[in-house]
Amino acid sequence: MMDVSETPQAAGGISSSADRMVGMEHAEVRYFTSYDHHGIHEEMLKDDVRTRSYRDSIYQNRHIFKDKVVLDVGCGTGILSMFAARAGAKHVIGVDMSSIIEKAREIVAVNGLADKITLLQGKMEEVVLPFPKVDIIISEWMGYFLLYESMLDTVLYARDTYLVPGGKIFPDKATMYVAGIEDGEYKDDKIGFWDNVYGFDYSPMKEIALTEPLVDTVEMKALVTDPCAVITLDLNTVTSADLAFRVPYSLLARRNDFVHALIAWFDIEFSECHKPIRFSTGPHAKYTHWKQTVFYLPDVLTVEEGESVSGYLENRPNDKNKRDLDITFTYNFETPDPTRSAQGSCFYRMC
Ligand code: SAH
Repeated sequence: MMDVSETPQAAGGISSSADRMVGMEHAEVRYFTSYDHHGIHEEMLKDDVRTRSYRDSIYQNRHIFKDKVVLDVGCGTGILSMFAARAGAKHVIGVDMSSIIEKAREIVAVNGLADKITLLQGKMEEVVLPFPKVDIIISEWMGYFLLYESMLDTVLYARDTYLVPGGKIFPDKATMYVAGIEDGEYKDDKIGFWDNVYGFDYSPMKEIALTEPLVDTVEMKALVTDPCAVITLDLNTVTSADLAFRVPYSLLARRNDFVHALIAWFDIEFSECHKPIRFSTGPHAKYTHWKQTVFYLPDVLTVEEGESVSGYLENRPNDKNKRDLDITFTYNFETPDPTRSAQGSCFYRMC
């Protein structure tokens, strides 16, 4: 165990991230070093929907934050820690494994908050906090498709280890949605391309192309079906085991069209605020850096208004690298016209 609580705060680069990562799995090193670079933090900070929702949920709830001990899990540049300190927290502890925390220290200092915020470099699962318990946990842990490369496990560890009974988690709810889209042109370009490459059959490449979900913005007009909420994670009660799930979905077609792909997105809620705050990463909402995740289907479904496509979404962390996801969509489309009916399942890996 690493006891970084005794390391001098002001010293800045106490030891490099590389030293701290000795013995860590390659995938973990890759994950944490990706956060060393300032560009990734710039992208997150510039995601106004994201950052403003966190700011509002904290600033509009000064009565909740006042005189509380707050833990910022994965503090990055320290933005959420500073929101909490400005909202009147007694003390904020920010923890991050990445070397970006050295910049967070400088930022906290130039903003005159060094006496209110303690920043610890290390893995959340290994550091020793200067307080045995905390009243509030704040964290921005969401990845693409909500759970890809996600650090939700880490937030749950922090909750189970440090949160006082009745303590609050900001945000506390995440809901995942699925819908069907028309995307023939792009599918032809991305998947159909492999059917004929300079006169050669490249179908072995097509299989890989199909298993790779695409993170991209989807236009609202591409939606053929209603969205379907498939799962809500309540951060107060969810366990790591719940992050492997198989949930049903049913999608009602809103017009006669073709369904080439299923898409997924998530909404995030700060429901324990005075006035709940929610933001969506869906195609109907303002752009966020999470965009949407597109899963191309092996079949094209010819749907008529009022018909439904149903099936299951199965998600589990990959056995070898728990930050990767193994995702399966099964689909069942039954119509009176057997030439249009289709059933199948498709496996995807996010890595
Ligand atoms: N809170 C910041 C950064 C969010 S990105 C903001 O809102 O802008 C998530 C951060 O969590 C990254 O900097 C990453 O290095 C850190 N992180 C992820 N898992 C961690 C763990 N197990 N221990 C410590 N830090 C972790």
